[in-house]
Amino acid sequence: MREKARALGFDAVGFARADEPLLADFERYERFLAQEMHGEMGYLAADRLVRRRLDTEDILVGARTVVCVARRYDRSEEDLAQDPPLARHIARYARGRDYHNGVRKKLRQLAAFVRTLGEGVTARPLLDDVPVLERAWAARAGLGFIGKNGLLIVPGQGSFVLLGEVVTTLALTPDEPVADRCGSCTLCIEECPTDAIVEARVLDARRCISYLTIELRSAMPEELRVAVGENLFGCDDCQTVCPYNKDSGAKRDGRSGAKTDVFSPHPRWADTTLADLVSASAAEFAVLAEGSPVHRATRIGLARNAAVALGNAAVDPEGEGGEGGRGGATRATLENAANSHESEVVRDAARWALGRLSKGR
Ligand code: SF4
Ligand code: SF4
Repeated sequence: MREKARALGFDAVGFARADEPLLADFERYERFLAQEMHGEMGYLAADRLVRRRLDTEDILVGARTVVCVARRYDRSEEDLAQDPPLARHIARYARGRDYHNGVRKKLRQLAAFVRTLGEGVTARPLLDDVPVLERAWAARAGLGFIGKNGLLIVPGQGSFVLLGEVVTTLALTPDEPVADRCGSCTLCIEECPTDAIVEARVLDARRCISYLTIELRSAMPEELRVAVGENLFGCDDCQTVCPYNKDSGAKRDGRSGAKTDVFSPHPRWADTTLADLVSASAAEFAVLAEGSPVHRATRIGLARNAAVALGNAAVDPEGEGGEGGRGGATRATLENAANSHESEVVRDAARWALGRLSKGR
């Protein structure tokens, strides 16, 4: 099973009992919901009970084992330095093609392999579109430990990993969990621009830039806009600062050793600016977001984020709104959006950004 998973391109694999519910992790999740830290992500509360266990009708009746896998998406510093300017405003996992299709295909192949291992064995692949607490299961399966930033850290691989699972009725010897290795380090908590990590392993999603730029559909809270900075889609700060990501290097394909380009930026980003995103029509957005994870933010959300990023770039001499950048074009785009964008969310963000532009000059 481990060899098969590696041959399919997964970088880590572990097994956990699927017929024992998550207790402490589920309680933590309940507290997170009770404190409304999930913000507008109502779906997290709606199907919360599904997340407690895997051996049910919602996931897989008779499940005995969950096979947890991780796939790295990190790239070398050298590669990252060559990314086009717009891509640097996008979280690393989302700069290239949408990973769901590729990883789903590999998980299906792993599930098909599992089914060959015994008569009547059933197996179901799960990706992050199925409501399970996948980091908790991965930790139970010994893939890594959950860092103070709330992310799974795989020893030797870091936290720039995508997770997936295959739940099966096949009984396999579970792996031992990995002990916490954060020690006295608090770098991720200190580095978070919006103070979203309210305590170790407790993330207030309402403050997290990933939520604010991807999941939030309404106006961005004004008090957080400066801290959101020039992030257009997601944020990597609590990962880039983590010592376990320092020497992770480029992702290599498990079998061939060839460098993968799935997560390299899409060429379209080389010809796109933040201003283009503020003013993108539905047709233009459809072309820009096609096959890219950024479509999740929606056209309005991305236009709002781009306006906020331009406002913040205005006080950054290297930024697109700064003196060294496309200041004139930026102002015209923002004025247009402030006066005539069809969405009040974007008009509001553009007005705010124009205010920043005035202060930046
Ligand atoms: S993703 Fe960014 S905003 Fe969210 S917790 Fe990490 S550092 Fe903070
Ligand atoms: S930055 Fe430090 S505290 Fe945060 S996850 Fe990494 S090792 Fe743990």
